[in-house]
Amino acid sequence: MPPILFIFILFNFVDLFKLAKYPFMAEAKEWVKEQKVNIEEILFDELYERARQRGIERVKQALEKGIIYDTPLINDVDCAMEIFSYPIARMLVVAVESDYLLRRYALAEAKRAYENMKNEEEDFISYLAKELGVEVNGEKIHFADYLKYAPTWDMKWKLVNRELKNGYVILSKNEVARLIQEAIRKKIYSELSYIFAPPEVKKVFRNEIIAIKSRIAFKDKSVKMKEVKADYFPPCIKSLVSAAKSGINVPHVGRFTMVTFLNAIGMSIDEILKIFSSSPDFNEEKTRYQIEHITGRISSTVYAPPKCDTIRTWGLCYPDEYCRGIKHPLFYYRRRRK
Ligand code: SF4
Repeated sequence: MPPILFIFILFNFVDLFKLAKYPFMAEAKEWVKEQKVNIEEILFDELYERARQRGIERVKQALEKGIIYDTPLINDVDCAMEIFSYPIARMLVVAVESDYLLRRYALAEAKRAYENMKNEEEDFISYLAKELGVEVNGEKIHFADYLKYAPTWDMKWKLVNRELKNGYVILSKNEVARLIQEAIRKKIYSELSYIFAPPEVKKVFRNEIIAIKSRIAFKDKSVKMKEVKADYFPPCIKSLVSAAKSGINVPHVGRFTMVTFLNAIGMSIDEILKIFSSSPDFNEEKTRYQIEHITGRISSTVYAPPKCDTIRTWGLCYPDEYCRGIKHPLFYYRRRRK
């Protein structure tokens, strides 16, 4: 039996309870290594049944709820099981062989970390940020990291709407946590791409893998796409789509308008992604994440396309004869389809 009952303190603020809450931390990996538990024990030993069940629960919650909920942690054994459940969940996710699940799981783990970070001291948040390569100083974040992790398609997060001081962007504690959430999501997702699930994993979790695969297939069917008629796009959208396809850099508000509109008329994520693929700064992973976020595939909000008035103030409105009396680009499309 591994020595899981000792009190583990690496730093003043990183103990076993912390590692259970943030099992993606390098210290948690180190701790697992130190326990010298092999894969057979993890997968078959009764001692780890609780960790296996929690691992399954992590994946199910990621898929169904989009977030992983905390579990009560009373003692060191609770923490140890929670920490072990993380590599188990990762192996299960990889064994399902679905990029959709990889992305959804990475985001769900990151969201859980965000919820926990809101209750942490600044010192710990700065420490965690440093481990992720993010330069945080209290409630300030280096502007380069801000640009890397802020959801800048949202007006609230645009750098021009933020206070900048000596190269740092001033934020609230929760906003710092929100940016670290994105760094965690990226880290987990990129690690998952390099993990290999041993064949035994597929045997042990055979039933769960089948159930998860059919759930994913069901979800895919539930977002079955409608036929899209590009000829009936309003001129504002036509111009944005044509700019993106020609590799012209479309401003954030333009991207937002385009994605929300195309999603509302039933275009698939892959088709929307294809439109952006000629952009000079195209990054498939980043763009897919933004599209999935805006369209509510991996978030709780499906953003609505902006009204004509808003598009006009952004300088993206080029009305034609069908725009007369139109207040929303979706009305234009529906009217022309009829
Ligand atoms: S009036 Fe509305 S639909 Fe027409 S181009 Fe302007 S924003 Fe688009």
